[in-house]
Amino acid sequence: MLNYYQTINISTAAGHIADTAIFVIYTGGTIGMDYDKEGKHLKPINFEHIIEKVPELRRFEFELTLLSFENPIDSADIKVHHWINIARIVYDFYNDYDAFVILHGTDTMAYTASALSFLFENLAKPVILTGAQLPIGVPRTDARENFITALEIAAMKKNGSPLVPEVCILFDNLLLRGNRARKVQSNNFTAFASENFPPLAITGIEIRFNESLILPTPTGRFDIFSKMDENVGLLKIFPGISRKYLEHFLATPDLRGIVMETYGSGNTPADSWFMNALSQAIENGIHILNVSQCNGGTVIHGMYESSKILESIGVISGGDITPEAAIAKMMFLLANEPNPQLVRQKLATSLRGEMTYRQSKK
Ligand code: ASP
Repeated sequence: MLNYYQTINISTAAGHIADTAIFVIYTGGTIGMDYDKEGKHLKPINFEHIIEKVPELRRFEFELTLLSFENPIDSADIKVHHWINIARIVYDFYNDYDAFVILHGTDTMAYTASALSFLFENLAKPVILTGAQLPIGVPRTDARENFITALEIAAMKKNGSPLVPEVCILFDNLLLRGNRARKVQSNNFTAFASENFPPLAITGIEIRFNESLILPTPTGRFDIFSKMDENVGLLKIFPGISRKYLEHFLATPDLRGIVMETYGSGNTPADSWFMNALSQAIENGIHILNVSQCNGGTVIHGMYESSKILESIGVISGGDITPEAAIAKMMFLLANEPNPQLVRQKLATSLRGEMTYRQSKK
């Protein structure tokens, strides 16, 4: 176990006879923030203070253990090593707990959820990320409700097995597959959406599950990957993108993979300098994954002329994957799949339910 984290046990209504044990990892984010002395800026606070603000935790009928990052962070500061650390914590406590709830800032929650979905292999227990738009100390906060609902869903079982054995985001009234979700609101309480995949559950007076969409429980042994390759880039296409800009970007030292955010169903300018630059990069061994700038819909190579050319030069279609999941998947595959042909193949297919596989239109 990592010794620079502190754990706290909460004695809930269950005492020691609970048949469900949940492990909570607090990383930071608005959920656990309070205003600084001048009352101007939000800063992370200690986890003990969070528990004081959610006395309802003590009424649960399960065992709760809480682990806090020593220095809780604004999720804008999340780095790859944080993802690896979270994966390791889950691995270390996996056999002793039924489910995991991760309290995380909303800004990069979709990236973290995506990254974890790839780093976990044969995950058979819920890993639910949640956070808040308003700090826990504010009377109108959404933190309490999100935290409590995430715990409830994490604890749910069917025939003795966890109901949702996958990495999810619970926010407001939606339980979303983590690698399908995007932060779409910085103001409303419904901060996350998943245009291309229906919610796994909608919470209201009842929690209604879309059980047929939940990933099946794997039978293999749970394990984690502990490497990600940061030599990736995100290239957003815009009208007027210049040759200088593109060539400079593609000349980034050690660049191995690019997520290219294109228009609509996967379109880019068709200029020959543009296609030649991409083609040269691919010949130099850089993987280029085409994802759409649209929140909904899918890349279809060959639907328009430019994407027909993209396909012919070796750009890979990301289908309906989100840019967040695409970045995480690229980092994951570049670090863990040594065969470039298999990297291409895996980028084009779903590994953890992150994309709906579609054949390209030739
Ligand atoms: N900046 C914050 C974070 O992502 C925003 C939030 O938590 O809502 O940590």
